[in-house]
Amino acid sequence: MRKRLVTFALVVAVLAGATVLARRLGYKVGGNVVVRCREGHLFTTIWIPGASLKAIRFGPVRGQYCPVGEHWTWVRPVRDSDLTQADREEAAGRHDIRIP
Ligand SMILES: [Zn+2]
Repeated sequence: MRKRLVTFALVVAVLAGATVLARRLGYKVGGNVVVRCREGHLFTTIWIPGASLKAIRFGPVRGQYCPVGEHWTWVRPVRDSDLTQADREEAAGRHDIRIP
């Protein structure tokens, strides 16, 4: 029982650390994030490290449905500083289903 609690605490700590690290690097993970799919489509999705019901995850890349091109693809978060104002507006208007 105690061992389980320790494991759980470790997992939470690692995920929290990953979120903080990603944010330091300029990625706004932990909520609504602008992502780019392999075809270059931009859209907004909810990205919470360690918690996802709709995506297959491989570190910073994950496989999910792209609502812009209407296809399954790999997406990765885009740094806020790498977005132009037009990119932000485009992504803001495109949001996939609102579950993590
Ligand atoms: Zn796409």
